[in-house]
Amino acid sequence: MDSARPPAVDSAQLRPRAASVLATSAKALYWYARGVRKRTQPVSMTLGIDDVRIARAWLRTRTDWHGDDVVLDYEDAFARWNGSPFAFAFTGARKALSACIDALGLGPGDEVLVPGFTCVVVSNAFRHAGVDIRYCDIELDTYGLDVRSVESRIGERTRAILIHHLFGLVCRDYDALVALARSRGLRIIEDCAHATGARYRGRRVGNAGDVAIYSSERSKVFNTIVGGMAVTSDPALADRLRRTAHGWDLPDDAAIERQLRNVLLDYYCLRHEMSQVLCPLVTARHGWARLESTGPGELRGRLPADYCTRMSNPIAALGLNQLRKIDTTNDSRRRTAQRWNRWAIDNGYRIPVVIPDSEPVFLRYPVLVAPERKRDRTWAARELGISLGVWFLTHVHPADEVVTGCPNADVAVASCVNLPTLLP
Ligand SMILES: *Cc1c(COP(=O)(O)O)cnc(C)c1O
Repeated sequence: MDSARPPAVDSAQLRPRAASVLATSAKALYWYARGVRKRTQPVSMTLGIDDVRIARAWLRTRTDWHGDDVVLDYEDAFARWNGSPFAFAFTGARKALSACIDALGLGPGDEVLVPGFTCVVVSNAFRHAGVDIRYCDIELDTYGLDVRSVESRIGERTRAILIHHLFGLVCRDYDALVALARSRGLRIIEDCAHATGARYRGRRVGNAGDVAIYSSERSKVFNTIVGGMAVTSDPALADRLRRTAHGWDLPDDAAIERQLRNVLLDYYCLRHEMSQVLCPLVTARHGWARLESTGPGELRGRLPADYCTRMSNPIAALGLNQLRKIDTTNDSRRRTAQRWNRWAIDNGYRIPVVIPDSEPVFLRYPVLVAPERKRDRTWAARELGISLGVWFLTHVHPADEVVTGCPNADVAVASCVNLPTLLP
């Protein structure tokens, strides 16, 4: 156990006091149960004892929490690794997206084309800026935007196209979408939240458009519990992104501390072999408050109070460590995907398309199943011994916003499940 001093603030939330011993015990039991079920938890798969050591060290000494030297190192390391001239770290990919929207000068009166199979925080980022969204259909080879749908929906006010590389697959119409945007004078924003490290023609995805975002949320390719990055190769956009990033606040100490403690909780409760024993101990020591990346207000489209925040030093230190491991973990994801390919072929499922000259990362392995198999998640545990991921349950996951005119997205909502590619 580390010897971090109790925090000055937020201690009621994070550390059990005598009066709440009972509640803490109940919660420890809950975490104990989660630990027992840890093999079915598809999050924080890349956390190791090395990350725990880093989190503990930062919990012990707070002197450098408010500097930005580690953040600048992290941005630099990410930029180099990603082959991007400029990178800026935020407390989430959605915030990186908001900074990109700002840098691109998008605002009220403008319209953006977005896949009708996305995450609510993506749509929120545009709405927060007053930008109108027009949903376009996806294709079912890689779940990316269908260029024909995009072409038919470009209007007078369209300023940008958001393309994504879902599940870590490089999207099928990548070249065509970039060419279309160039020919029509539209900006390209790449959502690489699932695809950090994927390559197309030897370059990492995210470098073909104007700006791109990456996520290090705990269910994504690499993990700082929450975190995100924006990149660009355009010096003018980089200046604007830098100004935005540096104008935003650091999270408060309580938020940073909670995030560091979540590294310990996730590791000891979800990953460690002896989680049955260690999870209750770590929970009693560090509290149970799990950091949720998306709160209920945000799900309904509200702007969280702490939204405009850039990344802090302790979290950047975790990011640097995760970056050291990312190529190895992505290799093992690709190897598991090969096994899922064989399984899919043997069972008559359609396999996801890896477009020529691309190297996907396979954050998850997507497959279309009968709708009843998507609704009933238990079969995968029973038949395959794995937990089924169901991104995305709705068109604008997990919000129930109505999206019309996207028949392929309708199919994906009804039938697309995903299988884990990092197995315990
Ligand atoms: C998770 C996710 C995001 C947002 O990432 P955060 O780091 O959680 O803000 C954006 N787009 C897609 C497709 C995602 O799955």
